[in-house]
Amino acid sequence: MSKAYSFVRWPLRSALRTTVSTRFSLFHDPFLGKEQTMPYDVLIDPGHGGADSGAVNSKTNTLEKNLNMDSSLSVEYFLGQRGRTTKMTRTTDVDIDNYQRAYQGVREGAKIFVSVHHDSAEVGRSLVYHDNKAESIRLANKVAGYMGGISVVSMNQSPHGRLYIADFTTGPSILIEMGPTRPYTRDERIARCQLRPTPSRTSSPTTSRKLS
Ligand SMILES: [Zn+2]
Repeated sequence: MSKAYSFVRWPLRSALRTTVSTRFSLFHDPFLGKEQTMPYDVLIDPGHGGADSGAVNSKTNTLEKNLNMDSSLSVEYFLGQRGRTTKMTRTTDVDIDNYQRAYQGVREGAKIFVSVHHDSAEVGRSLVYHDNKAESIRLANKVAGYMGGISVVSMNQSPHGRLYIADFTTGPSILIEMGPTRPYTRDERIARCQLRPTPSRTSSPTTSRKLS
């Protein structure tokens, strides 16, 4: 966006735009113009990373952040096979602020935000959390169905306290607890999530479209 364009359009836009977040994204986003990308379907967020390991299985020293990355790569593969365009909030072992993770999707025009986590080895269950947007609840139910009918819970009702990551998103947002932090084999995790890549897959494009 050129400076002249911004100047001419500013009063009109200023009058039309009422939310701080929208103004921020249009006029004060340090990334605007530098990292503009084509909108894509799903921003996949492997939870934790770097110094933040997330849940730790003390018996096996399995770290949640690594399981999250592994499962996120499976989700990426699953969606890619169905023609969905995706991005990841992290592809390496780095810690990123939750606001930055969620806001990346807003800034880049991602249609859906999916954060991938595992819970502690002792109490970890498979759950899909959603924020209060109707489309988030719908998406959570569809994903829970894909995962064998696991529970769907509001982010306000997490035993870990309210999950605020979706506060920063504008589209459908869910957080998947893939299960307990234990050293599942990769095949086990893929099977649990029904993401196994098989050449003979028969699911139709219609089925995959139900994800959104
Ligand atoms: Zn976590």
